Amino acid sequence: MMRLLVLAIVALAASIVRAGEPPLAIVGITIVHPERDGAQAAAPDQTVLIVDERIAAVGATRDVPVPPDAQVIDGRRRWLIPGLVDAHVHFDLSGTLYARPDIADLTGWVSFSREQARNRARLPETFRAWLRSGVTGVVDVGGAPWTFEVRDAARDNPDAPRVAVAGPLVSMVARAQLDAGGPIIVKVDTPEEARALVRRTLASRPDYIKVWFVHRPGDDLAKQEAIVRAAGEEAHAAGVRFAVHATELAVAKAALRAGADFLVHSVEDAPIDEEFLILARQRDVLYCPTLFVYEGYGLALSNRWRPTEAERRFADPEVLSRMDDFEEIPREKLPPWVRRAIEQGWTGHEPPHAAANLRRVLDAGIRVVVGSDAGNIGTLHGPAIFREMASMVQAGLAPLEVLRAATANGAHALGTAGKTGVVAPGALADLVMLDADPLADIRNASRIHAVIKDGRVHEAVRVP
Ligand SMILES: [Zn+2]
Repeated sequence: MMRLLVLAIVALAASIVRAGEPPLAIVGITIVHPERDGAQAAAPDQTVLIVDERIAAVGATRDVPVPPDAQVIDGRRRWLIPGLVDAHVHFDLSGTLYARPDIADLTGWVSFSREQARNRARLPETFRAWLRSGVTGVVDVGGAPWTFEVRDAARDNPDAPRVAVAGPLVSMVARAQLDAGGPIIVKVDTPEEARALVRRTLASRPDYIKVWFVHRPGDDLAKQEAIVRAAGEEAHAAGVRFAVHATELAVAKAALRAGADFLVHSVEDAPIDEEFLILARQRDVLYCPTLFVYEGYGLALSNRWRPTEAERRFADPEVLSRMDDFEEIPREKLPPWVRRAIEQGWTGHEPPHAAANLRRVLDAGIRVVVGSDAGNIGTLHGPAIFREMASMVQAGLAPLEVLRAATANGAHALGTAGKTGVVAPGALADLVMLDADPLADIRNASRIHAVIKDGRVHEAVRVP
């Protein structure tokens, strides 16, 4: 039986800062400190005092005095983790069957411009789906020009996670299907064109410049690397970090040589080698494995996608209701390959080396982050993070390693290192209270009792 929430919504005030309200005390809780090792990671019987939007004190319950006017939350038999960060999302994609017409063209049923209009209009609900899932920070690593407005909207909305954005992607290939009133991907052919494009994007003050580094057989990798390097140099000259999509070993190494600070996918085609690890350490790169997204495509496009319990509770209900649209779409409206996927079954493309490479980079001390690639078909904003964290455990990581990637390391991706991702005095009070131990089973990270962002307690469970 699902436990319903005992805490009231206090998100109605106009201001997002919790100033002037009584302090909040979470008493008797087990704190999980994901940045610590082994047995040190779990501290039982702790009290956390929150004043305004920050953590004011953390310690053993007997040592932390609770002010008489504090609002007290009983933390006994519960666990507290820092708010989660999904370091790879796309707000301009819905996660439904219509999200990627360049991959599965269902525009005969729902046009991409209708999709984009829907995603913009539905933004407040997408924000809530993230926050309900305990995700207090997300990085949009590339999207339509309007995704810059997403960051502004999130800043003004107490029911939204913190948002960092990259804006339109620089690439060697075009995707005309993904242009509905502003391109998501912009093709450049020379380093000069890359520089000019990045300078235009910098006017919108992106948190990242992102390159979609697509290398096909016959392409000149050195020539492509020069384009990527030009984009990276322009980003760095403006003090902006540089994110790159590069899924093959040779391409990922070229990306690192060209200045990448953030690899937004796994190396998928070959075992990572020593040269990669040396380059990655030199760049102090962030490595985001995105393991589940391929399975999401396979499940959704073969009409076998079924919601997890977390998805039923936390996802945007309107998105959930569209996940079985294949029941309605006339078969002749589907691309032949999708028809075959439905008839014959399809599990998606599983990158053969991604899991082993994740273990390798982690053991080499590379900073791993969690990113779901939410918005892609079958990967839903919000609860997708639980699918991704489960995939990382399946790949051989301990729950503690996954939590560290999702919190302390996630803060690096978000640009809030030290300010979020830790339960420590002075940090922003972005926290998640759980009804079960996430170190015992990573799936318990979805057993959310309450989400706290900027010191505000949010209702976590929607009554179906
Ligand atoms: Zn992506």
